[in-house]
Amino acid sequence: MFSSGMLFVLAGPSGAGKTTLAHHLAAKYEDTNFSVSTTTRPSRGEEVHGKDYFFVDDDEFTRRIENSCFLEWAHVHGNRYGTESSWVREQMALGKSVILDIDVQGAVLVKEAMPSAVLIFVLPAGSDVLRDRLEQRNTDSDKTVEKRMKAAAGEISFMGVFDYYICNELLEDAKSELEIVFLAERMRLRNIGWPLEALDYHSGYMNGLNYWQGKKVVVSSGPTREMIDEVRFISNRSSGLMGVSLAEAFLAAGARVVLVSGPAFHMDPPGPVRIVKVGNTTDMMESLKKEIVNADFLVMAAAIADYTPVSIAPAKMERVEGEISILLEPTPDVTASLSAPCPVLSFALEYGKNAVERARGKMERKGSTAVFLNMGDVQGAGMETACNSGTLLFASGVKNVEIPFGSKKFIAFGIAAALGREMRNLENG
Ligand code: 5GP
Repeated sequence: MFSSGMLFVLAGPSGAGKTTLAHHLAAKYEDTNFSVSTTTRPSRGEEVHGKDYFFVDDDEFTRRIENSCFLEWAHVHGNRYGTESSWVREQMALGKSVILDIDVQGAVLVKEAMPSAVLIFVLPAGSDVLRDRLEQRNTDSDKTVEKRMKAAAGEISFMGVFDYYICNELLEDAKSELEIVFLAERMRLRNIGWPLEALDYHSGYMNGLNYWQGKKVVVSSGPTREMIDEVRFISNRSSGLMGVSLAEAFLAAGARVVLVSGPAFHMDPPGPVRIVKVGNTTDMMESLKKEIVNADFLVMAAAIADYTPVSIAPAKMERVEGEISILLEPTPDVTASLSAPCPVLSFALEYGKNAVERARGKMERKGSTAVFLNMGDVQGAGMETACNSGTLLFASGVKNVEIPFGSKKFIAFGIAAALGREMRNLENG
Protein backbone atom coordinates (compact mmCIF):
# COMPACT_ATOMS: atom_id res chain seq x y z
CA MET A 1 0.00 0.00 0.00
CA PHE A 2 1.31 3.37 -0.97
CA SER A 3 1.72 6.39 1.35
CA SER A 4 1.54 9.78 -0.31
CA GLY A 5 4.22 12.44 0.07
CA MET A 6 3.14 15.78 1.51
CA LEU A 7 3.68 19.32 0.35
CA PHE A 8 4.98 21.79 2.96
CA VAL A 9 4.96 25.45 2.04
CA LEU A 10 7.01 27.85 4.13
CA ALA A 11 6.22 31.47 3.49
CA GLY A 12 6.48 34.77 5.31
CA PRO A 13 8.27 38.07 4.95
CA SER A 14 11.69 38.11 3.37
CA GLY A 15 14.19 37.85 6.27
CA ALA A 16 11.96 35.60 8.42
CA GLY A 17 14.42 32.73 8.14
CA LYS A 18 12.20 30.38 6.12
CA THR A 19 15.05 29.22 3.86
CA THR A 20 17.11 28.09 6.88
CA LEU A 21 14.07 26.27 8.28
CA ALA A 22 13.21 24.65 4.95
CA HIS A 23 16.77 23.33 4.54
CA HIS A 24 16.75 22.08 8.13
CA LEU A 25 13.67 19.93 7.46
CA ALA A 26 15.05 18.60 4.17
CA ALA A 27 18.36 17.67 5.87
CA LYS A 28 16.75 16.08 8.93
CA TYR A 29 14.17 13.78 7.28
CA GLU A 30 14.87 11.30 4.53
CA ASP A 31 12.31 11.22 1.74
CA THR A 32 11.99 14.98 2.01
CA ASN A 33 13.19 17.21 -0.78
CA PHE A 34 13.59 20.93 -1.18
CA SER A 35 12.00 22.31 -4.33
CA VAL A 36 14.25 24.48 -6.48
CA SER A 37 12.25 27.35 -7.97
CA THR A 38 12.54 28.89 -11.41
CA THR A 39 13.16 32.64 -11.58
CA THR A 40 13.79 35.48 -13.99
CA ARG A 41 16.02 37.18 -11.39
CA PRO A 42 19.70 37.25 -12.35
CA SER A 43 21.88 35.05 -10.16
CA ARG A 44 23.58 36.73 -7.20
CA GLY A 45 27.16 36.08 -6.10
CA GLU A 46 27.78 32.40 -5.65
CA GLU A 47 24.32 31.13 -6.46
CA VAL A 48 24.35 27.95 -8.56
CA HIS A 49 21.89 27.20 -11.41
CA GLY A 50 19.89 24.10 -10.51
CA LYS A 51 20.81 24.28 -6.82
CA ASP A 52 19.61 27.70 -5.64
CA TYR A 53 17.32 28.45 -8.57
CA PHE A 54 16.78 27.60 -12.20
CA PHE A 55 17.62 30.94 -13.79
CA VAL A 56 15.69 31.57 -17.01
CA ASP A 57 14.98 34.64 -19.17
CA ASP A 58 11.58 36.33 -19.47
CA ASP A 59 10.58 34.58 -22.71
CA GLU A 60 11.32 31.16 -21.29
CA PHE A 61 9.34 31.94 -18.13
CA THR A 62 6.36 33.08 -20.23
CA ARG A 63 6.58 29.92 -22.33
CA ARG A 64 6.42 27.81 -19.16
CA ILE A 65 3.35 29.71 -17.90
CA GLU A 66 1.63 29.10 -21.23
CA ASN A 67 2.42 25.40 -21.05
CA SER A 68 0.95 25.17 -17.51
CA CYS A 69 4.34 24.10 -16.13
CA PHE A 70 3.87 25.89 -12.80
CA LEU A 71 1.94 24.83 -9.73
CA GLU A 72 2.09 28.54 -8.85
CA TRP A 73 4.05 31.56 -9.95
CA ALA A 74 4.18 35.18 -8.80
CA HIS A 75 5.88 38.54 -9.25
CA VAL A 76 8.14 39.09 -6.25
CA HIS A 77 10.20 42.26 -5.83
CA GLY A 78 10.14 42.98 -9.58
CA ASN A 79 11.02 39.47 -10.80
CA ARG A 80 8.98 36.36 -11.53
CA TYR A 81 9.34 33.15 -9.52
CA GLY A 82 7.57 29.82 -10.04
CA THR A 83 7.31 26.25 -8.73
CA GLU A 84 7.58 23.46 -11.30
CA SER A 85 4.36 21.41 -11.05
CA SER A 86 5.39 18.08 -12.60
CA TRP A 87 8.47 17.70 -10.39
CA VAL A 88 6.46 18.34 -7.22
CA ARG A 89 3.72 15.84 -8.15
CA GLU A 90 6.22 13.20 -9.26
CA GLN A 91 8.07 13.41 -5.95
CA MET A 92 4.85 13.14 -3.98
CA ALA A 93 3.67 10.22 -6.08
CA LEU A 94 6.95 8.49 -5.15
CA GLY A 95 6.03 9.00 -1.50
CA LYS A 96 8.50 11.86 -0.98
CA SER A 97 7.52 15.06 0.75
CA VAL A 98 8.39 18.36 -0.87
CA ILE A 99 9.25 21.64 0.83
CA LEU A 100 8.63 24.97 -0.87
CA ASP A 101 10.17 28.25 0.27
CA ILE A 102 8.07 30.77 -1.63
CA ASP A 103 6.34 34.09 -1.19
CA VAL A 104 2.90 34.50 0.39
CA GLN A 105 0.95 35.06 -2.86
CA GLY A 106 2.46 31.84 -4.23
CA ALA A 107 1.47 29.93 -1.07
CA VAL A 108 -2.14 31.08 -1.42
CA LEU A 109 -2.16 29.85 -5.05
CA VAL A 110 -0.73 26.47 -3.98
CA LYS A 111 -3.58 26.06 -1.48
CA GLU A 112 -6.10 26.59 -4.30
CA ALA A 113 -4.45 24.10 -6.63
CA MET A 114 -3.65 21.56 -3.91
CA PRO A 115 -5.84 22.01 -0.82
CA SER A 116 -3.97 19.26 1.06
CA ALA A 117 -0.74 21.34 1.01
CA VAL A 118 0.41 22.33 4.50
CA LEU A 119 0.94 26.09 4.67
CA ILE A 120 3.27 27.37 7.40
CA PHE A 121 3.64 31.09 8.05
CA VAL A 122 7.03 32.14 9.46
CA LEU A 123 7.47 35.47 11.21
CA PRO A 124 10.63 36.75 12.95
CA ALA A 125 8.92 38.18 16.07
CA GLY A 126 8.09 41.89 15.90
CA SER A 127 8.74 44.35 13.08
CA ASP A 128 11.87 45.78 14.80
CA VAL A 129 13.48 42.31 14.68
CA LEU A 130 12.72 41.95 10.96
CA ARG A 131 14.14 45.41 10.24
CA ASP A 132 17.36 44.54 12.15
CA ARG A 133 17.74 41.30 10.21
CA LEU A 134 17.26 42.96 6.83
CA GLU A 135 19.76 45.69 7.73
CA GLN A 136 22.33 43.19 8.97
CA ARG A 137 22.13 41.21 5.71
CA ASN A 138 24.01 44.08 4.06
CA THR A 139 22.82 42.89 0.68
CA ASP A 140 19.95 45.36 0.56
CA SER A 141 20.03 49.17 0.36
CA ASP A 142 18.00 51.31 2.83
CA LYS A 143 15.40 51.84 0.16
CA THR A 144 15.08 48.10 -0.39
CA VAL A 145 14.75 47.51 3.36
CA GLU A 146 11.85 49.99 3.49
CA LYS A 147 10.24 48.32 0.49
CA ARG A 148 10.55 44.90 2.12
CA MET A 149 9.09 46.16 5.43
CA LYS A 150 6.06 47.45 3.56
CA ALA A 151 5.80 44.19 1.66
CA ALA A 152 5.95 42.31 5.00
CA ALA A 153 2.84 44.13 6.25
CA GLY A 154 1.01 43.15 3.07
CA GLU A 155 2.13 39.51 3.38
CA ILE A 156 1.04 39.24 7.04
CA SER A 157 -2.48 40.20 6.01
CA PHE A 158 -2.75 36.82 4.21
CA MET A 159 -1.76 34.81 7.30
CA GLY A 160 -5.33 33.58 7.78
CA VAL A 161 -5.06 31.35 4.69
CA PHE A 162 -2.26 29.36 6.39
CA ASP A 163 -2.51 26.21 8.53
CA TYR A 164 0.35 26.85 10.99
CA TYR A 165 2.26 29.78 12.46
CA ILE A 166 5.87 29.61 13.58
CA CYS A 167 7.57 32.54 15.28
CA ASN A 168 11.27 32.32 14.40
CA GLU A 169 12.62 34.36 17.29
CA LEU A 170 14.91 31.57 18.50
CA LEU A 171 16.03 29.42 15.60
CA GLU A 172 16.33 26.18 17.64
CA ASP A 173 12.74 26.52 18.91
CA ALA A 174 11.46 27.29 15.43
CA LYS A 175 13.23 24.19 14.06
CA SER A 176 11.59 21.97 16.72
CA GLU A 177 8.17 23.44 16.01
CA LEU A 178 8.58 22.76 12.32
CA GLU A 179 9.58 19.17 13.06
CA ILE A 180 6.44 18.73 15.19
CA VAL A 181 4.26 19.96 12.32
CA PHE A 182 6.04 17.60 9.92
CA LEU A 183 5.63 14.58 12.20
CA ALA A 184 1.96 15.29 12.92
CA GLU A 185 1.16 15.71 9.23
CA ARG A 186 2.96 12.45 8.48
CA MET A 187 0.45 10.66 10.73
CA ARG A 188 -2.52 12.11 8.89
CA LEU A 189 -4.70 9.23 7.66
CA ARG A 190 -5.28 11.00 4.37
CA ASN A 191 -1.61 10.52 3.48
CA ILE A 192 -1.26 6.97 4.82
CA GLY A 193 -3.83 5.25 2.60
CA TRP A 194 -4.97 2.20 4.58
CA PRO A 195 -2.42 1.28 7.28
CA LEU A 196 -0.74 -2.07 6.58
CA GLU A 197 -1.31 -3.22 10.16
CA ALA A 198 -5.07 -2.71 9.72
CA LEU A 199 -5.36 -4.80 6.52
CA ASP A 200 -5.58 -8.25 8.13
CA TYR A 201 -8.65 -7.40 10.14
CA HIS A 202 -10.95 -7.73 7.12
CA SER A 203 -9.62 -10.78 5.38
CA GLY A 204 -10.12 -10.73 1.61
CA TYR A 205 -11.89 -7.34 1.63
CA MET A 206 -8.92 -5.46 0.14
CA ASN A 207 -7.89 -8.17 -2.35
CA GLY A 208 -7.77 -6.80 -5.88
CA LEU A 209 -6.32 -3.36 -5.11
CA ASN A 210 -3.06 -4.17 -6.87
CA TYR A 211 -4.94 -4.33 -10.19
CA TRP A 212 -4.81 -0.50 -10.23
CA GLN A 213 -1.03 -0.18 -10.20
CA GLY A 214 -0.03 2.25 -12.98
CA LYS A 215 -3.62 2.71 -14.26
CA LYS A 216 -5.25 6.11 -14.85
CA VAL A 217 -8.49 6.52 -12.90
CA VAL A 218 -10.81 9.52 -13.26
CA VAL A 219 -13.18 10.16 -10.36
CA SER A 220 -16.05 12.62 -10.63
CA SER A 221 -17.17 14.01 -7.31
CA GLY A 222 -19.38 16.46 -5.44
CA PRO A 223 -22.56 18.18 -6.58
CA THR A 224 -23.01 20.35 -9.65
CA ARG A 225 -24.19 23.93 -9.29
CA GLU A 226 -26.89 25.06 -11.71
CA MET A 227 -27.01 28.85 -11.60
CA ILE A 228 -30.31 30.75 -11.31
CA ASP A 229 -28.57 34.14 -11.37
CA GLU A 230 -24.99 35.22 -10.53
CA VAL A 231 -25.54 34.41 -6.86
CA ARG A 232 -28.20 31.69 -6.44
CA PHE A 233 -28.09 28.15 -7.65
CA ILE A 234 -29.79 24.75 -7.57
CA SER A 235 -27.66 21.97 -6.17
CA ASN A 236 -27.85 18.96 -3.85
CA ARG A 237 -26.47 17.74 -0.54
CA SER A 238 -23.41 15.89 -1.89
CA SER A 239 -20.39 16.75 0.32
CA GLY A 240 -17.78 15.25 -2.02
CA LEU A 241 -16.43 12.93 0.70
CA MET A 242 -17.23 9.69 -1.17
CA GLY A 243 -15.43 10.97 -4.30
CA VAL A 244 -12.39 12.19 -2.38
CA SER A 245 -12.23 8.86 -0.48
CA LEU A 246 -12.35 6.95 -3.77
CA ALA A 247 -9.58 9.14 -5.20
CA GLU A 248 -7.54 8.35 -2.09
CA ALA A 249 -8.17 4.59 -2.38
CA PHE A 250 -7.22 4.36 -6.07
CA LEU A 251 -4.11 6.47 -5.40
CA ALA A 252 -3.09 4.24 -2.49
CA ALA A 253 -3.57 1.25 -4.82
CA GLY A 254 -0.99 2.76 -7.18
CA ALA A 255 -3.17 4.51 -9.79
CA ARG A 256 -2.70 7.98 -11.29
CA VAL A 257 -5.85 9.76 -10.22
CA VAL A 258 -7.70 12.83 -11.50
CA LEU A 259 -10.57 14.19 -9.38
CA VAL A 260 -13.13 16.17 -11.39
CA SER A 261 -15.13 17.88 -8.68
CA GLY A 262 -18.08 20.21 -8.51
CA PRO A 263 -18.11 22.79 -5.68
CA ALA A 264 -17.94 20.42 -2.70
CA PHE A 265 -17.21 20.68 0.99
CA HIS A 266 -14.52 17.98 0.62
CA MET A 267 -12.03 18.70 -2.16
CA ASP A 268 -8.79 17.86 -0.42
CA PRO A 269 -7.43 14.55 -1.70
CA PRO A 270 -3.74 13.68 -1.17
CA GLY A 271 -1.36 15.93 -3.16
CA PRO A 272 -0.61 13.60 -6.10
CA VAL A 273 -4.30 13.59 -7.08
CA ARG A 274 -4.79 16.24 -9.76
CA ILE A 275 -7.95 18.28 -9.15
CA VAL A 276 -10.11 19.71 -11.93
CA LYS A 277 -12.73 22.10 -10.53
CA VAL A 278 -16.05 22.37 -12.37
CA GLY A 279 -19.33 24.27 -11.85
CA ASN A 280 -22.46 23.07 -13.64
CA THR A 281 -23.38 19.84 -15.45
CA THR A 282 -22.07 21.10 -18.80
CA ASP A 283 -18.66 21.94 -17.24
CA MET A 284 -18.58 18.54 -15.59
CA MET A 285 -19.28 16.81 -18.88
CA GLU A 286 -16.71 18.87 -20.85
CA SER A 287 -13.96 18.23 -18.30
CA LEU A 288 -14.73 14.53 -18.05
CA LYS A 289 -14.68 14.24 -21.84
CA LYS A 290 -11.10 15.56 -21.88
CA GLU A 291 -9.88 13.49 -18.93
CA ILE A 292 -11.25 10.10 -19.99
CA VAL A 293 -9.51 10.07 -23.38
CA ASN A 294 -6.61 7.99 -22.05
CA ALA A 295 -8.20 6.73 -18.82
CA ASP A 296 -8.43 3.09 -17.73
CA PHE A 297 -11.48 3.61 -15.53
CA LEU A 298 -14.11 6.23 -14.75
CA VAL A 299 -15.82 6.47 -11.36
CA MET A 300 -19.01 8.56 -11.51
CA ALA A 301 -19.42 9.48 -7.84
CA ALA A 302 -20.62 13.03 -8.62
CA ALA A 303 -24.23 13.87 -7.78
CA ILE A 304 -25.09 15.59 -11.03
CA ALA A 305 -28.21 17.77 -11.12
CA ASP A 306 -31.12 16.31 -13.10
CA TYR A 307 -32.53 19.75 -13.90
CA THR A 308 -31.08 23.16 -14.67
CA PRO A 309 -32.71 26.60 -15.13
CA VAL A 310 -33.60 27.26 -18.77
CA SER A 311 -31.78 30.61 -18.55
CA ILE A 312 -29.55 32.41 -16.05
CA ALA A 313 -30.87 35.78 -14.88
CA PRO A 314 -28.30 38.58 -15.16
CA ALA A 315 -26.61 39.78 -11.91
CA LYS A 316 -28.69 39.28 -8.74
CA MET A 317 -32.45 38.92 -9.14
CA GLU A 318 -34.38 41.51 -7.15
CA ARG A 319 -36.55 40.21 -4.34
CA VAL A 320 -40.22 40.62 -5.24
CA GLU A 321 -43.38 40.16 -3.24
CA GLY A 322 -45.31 36.98 -3.98
CA GLU A 323 -44.41 33.76 -5.74
CA ILE A 324 -41.96 33.40 -8.58
CA SER A 325 -41.28 30.41 -10.76
CA ILE A 326 -38.07 29.20 -12.33
CA LEU A 327 -38.42 27.17 -15.48
CA LEU A 328 -36.21 24.07 -15.44
CA GLU A 329 -35.09 21.76 -18.19
CA PRO A 330 -33.51 18.32 -17.84
CA THR A 331 -29.71 18.04 -17.96
CA PRO A 332 -28.19 15.38 -20.20
CA ASP A 333 -27.43 11.97 -18.68
CA VAL A 334 -23.68 12.58 -18.37
CA THR A 335 -22.55 8.96 -18.10
CA ALA A 336 -24.69 7.80 -21.02
CA SER A 337 -23.71 10.71 -23.27
CA LEU A 338 -19.99 10.40 -22.51
CA SER A 339 -19.87 6.86 -23.97
CA ALA A 340 -16.59 6.52 -22.11
CA PRO A 341 -13.87 4.56 -23.88
CA CYS A 342 -13.19 2.80 -20.56
CA PRO A 343 -15.27 0.86 -18.01
CA VAL A 344 -17.43 2.97 -15.69
CA LEU A 345 -18.72 2.67 -12.12
CA SER A 346 -22.04 4.47 -11.56
CA PHE A 347 -23.68 5.35 -8.28
CA ALA A 348 -27.32 4.88 -7.38
CA LEU A 349 -28.73 6.50 -4.26
CA GLU A 350 -32.12 4.85 -3.82
CA TYR A 351 -35.01 5.02 -1.35
CA GLY A 352 -37.66 2.39 -0.61
CA LYS A 353 -38.51 -0.93 -2.24
CA ASN A 354 -37.06 -2.55 -5.39
CA ALA A 355 -33.84 -0.59 -5.03
CA VAL A 356 -31.70 -3.41 -6.45
CA GLU A 357 -33.85 -3.63 -9.60
CA ARG A 358 -33.75 0.14 -10.06
CA ALA A 359 -29.96 0.26 -9.58
CA ARG A 360 -29.53 -2.57 -12.09
CA GLY A 361 -31.76 -0.69 -14.57
CA LYS A 362 -29.66 2.43 -14.09
CA MET A 363 -26.46 0.48 -14.75
CA GLU A 364 -27.92 -0.92 -17.98
CA ARG A 365 -29.24 2.45 -19.21
CA LYS A 366 -25.87 4.08 -18.58
CA GLY A 367 -23.85 1.21 -20.06
CA SER A 368 -21.78 0.94 -16.86
CA THR A 369 -19.60 -1.97 -15.79
CA ALA A 370 -20.82 -1.75 -12.20
CA VAL A 371 -23.09 0.28 -9.97
CA PHE A 372 -22.75 1.06 -6.28
CA LEU A 373 -26.17 1.08 -4.68
CA ASN A 374 -26.52 2.91 -1.40
CA MET A 375 -29.76 3.39 0.44
CA GLY A 376 -30.77 6.92 1.30
CA ASP A 377 -32.84 5.72 4.24
CA VAL A 378 -30.02 4.00 6.19
CA GLN A 379 -29.37 6.09 9.29
CA GLY A 380 -25.90 7.70 9.28
CA ALA A 381 -25.14 6.72 5.68
CA GLY A 382 -25.41 8.54 2.35
CA MET A 383 -25.16 12.27 1.74
CA GLU A 384 -23.38 14.64 4.17
CA THR A 385 -22.28 11.81 6.42
CA ALA A 386 -18.85 10.41 7.27
CA CYS A 387 -20.04 6.82 6.80
CA ASN A 388 -21.74 4.70 4.22
CA SER A 389 -22.68 1.15 3.22
CA GLY A 390 -24.06 -0.43 0.08
CA THR A 391 -24.02 -3.12 -2.55
CA LEU A 392 -21.85 -3.35 -5.63
CA LEU A 393 -23.66 -4.84 -8.65
CA PHE A 394 -21.88 -5.92 -11.81
CA ALA A 395 -23.08 -5.89 -15.43
CA SER A 396 -21.31 -9.23 -15.95
CA GLY A 397 -23.85 -10.80 -13.58
CA VAL A 398 -21.15 -11.92 -11.16
CA LYS A 399 -22.32 -12.14 -7.52
CA ASN A 400 -23.07 -8.81 -5.77
CA VAL A 401 -20.53 -7.58 -3.23
CA GLU A 402 -21.98 -6.29 0.04
CA ILE A 403 -19.95 -3.40 1.42
CA PRO A 404 -20.61 -3.23 5.18
CA PHE A 405 -21.29 -0.02 7.11
CA GLY A 406 -18.12 1.93 7.87
CA SER A 407 -16.24 5.17 7.13
CA LYS A 408 -16.46 6.35 3.52
CA LYS A 409 -12.72 5.70 3.32
CA PHE A 410 -13.28 2.03 4.24
CA ILE A 411 -16.13 1.80 1.72
CA ALA A 412 -13.91 3.38 -0.96
CA PHE A 413 -11.13 0.85 -0.44
CA GLY A 414 -13.69 -1.99 -0.57
CA ILE A 415 -15.15 -0.67 -3.84
CA ALA A 416 -11.71 -0.19 -5.43
CA ALA A 417 -10.67 -3.71 -4.39
CA ALA A 418 -13.88 -5.39 -5.63
CA LEU A 419 -13.63 -3.50 -8.94
CA GLY A 420 -10.00 -4.61 -9.26
CA ARG A 421 -11.10 -8.23 -8.86
CA GLU A 422 -13.89 -7.78 -11.42
CA MET A 423 -11.59 -6.07 -13.94
CA ARG A 424 -9.06 -8.86 -13.61
CA ASN A 425 -11.80 -11.47 -14.14
CA LEU A 426 -13.13 -9.62 -17.21
CA GLU A 427 -9.63 -9.39 -18.69
CA ASN A 428 -8.95 -13.06 -18.05
CA GLY A 429 -12.25 -13.97 -19.72
P1 5GP B 1 15.23 35.82 -3.41
O1 5GP B 1 15.25 36.45 -4.75
O2 5GP B 1 15.70 36.76 -2.34
O3 5GP B 1 15.93 34.51 -3.38
O4 5GP B 1 13.70 35.50 -3.09
C1 5GP B 1 12.75 36.51 -3.07
C2 5GP B 1 11.40 35.97 -2.68
O5 5GP B 1 10.89 35.09 -3.68
C3 5GP B 1 11.41 35.13 -1.39
O6 5GP B 1 10.32 35.57 -0.57
C4 5GP B 1 11.16 33.74 -1.86
O7 5GP B 1 10.49 32.98 -0.88
C5 5GP B 1 10.29 33.97 -3.07
N1 5GP B 1 10.29 32.82 -3.98
C6 5GP B 1 11.32 32.00 -4.27
N2 5GP B 1 10.92 31.03 -5.11
C7 5GP B 1 9.60 31.23 -5.36
C8 5GP B 1 8.61 30.56 -6.14
O8 5GP B 1 8.85 29.54 -6.80
N3 5GP B 1 7.36 31.07 -6.14
C9 5GP B 1 7.03 32.18 -5.43
N4 5GP B 1 5.76 32.58 -5.47
N5 5GP B 1 7.93 32.84 -4.67
C10 5GP B 1 9.20 32.37 -4.63
